[in-house]
Amino acid sequence: MQAMVLERLGEPLRLVERSDPEPGGGEVRVRVAACGVCRTDLHVVDGELPNPKLPIVPGHEIVGRIDAVGAGVDTIEAGMRVGIPWLGKTCGHCRYCREGRENLCDHPQFTGYTRDGGYATHVVADARYVFRLPDSGDDVANAPLLCAGLIGWRSLQMAGDGRKIGFYGFGAAAHIIAQVARWQGRDIYAFTRSGDSAAQAFARTLGARWAGSSDETPPDELDCAIIYAPVGALVPAALRAVRKGGRVICAGIHMSDIPSFPYSILWEERELKSVANLTREDGEEFFAIVPQAGIVTQTVPYPLARANDALSDLRSGRLQGAAVLVP
Ligand SMILES: [Zn+2]
Ligand SMILES: [Zn+2]
Repeated sequence: MQAMVLERLGEPLRLVERSDPEPGGGEVRVRVAACGVCRTDLHVVDGELPNPKLPIVPGHEIVGRIDAVGAGVDTIEAGMRVGIPWLGKTCGHCRYCREGRENLCDHPQFTGYTRDGGYATHVVADARYVFRLPDSGDDVANAPLLCAGLIGWRSLQMAGDGRKIGFYGFGAAAHIIAQVARWQGRDIYAFTRSGDSAAQAFARTLGARWAGSSDETPPDELDCAIIYAPVGALVPAALRAVRKGGRVICAGIHMSDIPSFPYSILWEERELKSVANLTREDGEEFFAIVPQAGIVTQTVPYPLARANDALSDLRSGRLQGAAVLVP
């Protein structure tokens, strides 16, 4: 197999040749057809998340087909099309797992962070955390659904059912979740980096009622807002944009420090919450909605060996939509 490997934090990934991994008991091996590049991968590479496995193969938006099945797996067979998400494994017995909140498991494993991910031709996954995908459909187009879509979906649900919804950062996640929100009949307000007229135009093509810079005041008071960009200064900005009782959701795994802000912008029962990871239930719900909402992803494919270019394009904000590696 080939893989793009992070050997030391902050260094470029290196293309390496390895022997094909063998699935252990309860595991499957997947021949990767496409792997999306997520903002979280940048946080892993940059060393902004604690205790990554090193060396690590990043990537947790994996679409491919089962090509080997380990002992004891009877739910999945060779040849099936599957998706592998960020949540790689949970312990099943901590209080969070028992309460149905496996996204908060005390002893989790995460794909492309604490176990090898999909910047590769092959990857091994725990069969219980793999999603069955429909046989038809495009591998590249489906890849961003595995995290941008899934965790985006969790953040949308957490935002509540307010009609006027703001998205701060209009990248991979927002461009998918805006389509879900439009399908639900909501009004979308898209906030981008200052002067990013391309992203604002992109948001309008996806039905945004208003698109502007994150330092602008939207024309209407928002019911809720989701922050996808890893920028702490957006927290007070979003709190200022939501109405009394409104909710602000931070959807990223890492964010720069939040500047201090006056209590008055949180007062009047505004709520501020973060979203962490996903549950398998989120995945079942979300993949049922994808065809109903008619989600069409915008992707920019890169050959596997150009993973470093994909990461730097994501970092600089040059991408419209989602980068996807194709081995
Ligand atoms: Zn647990
Ligand atoms: Zn992700």
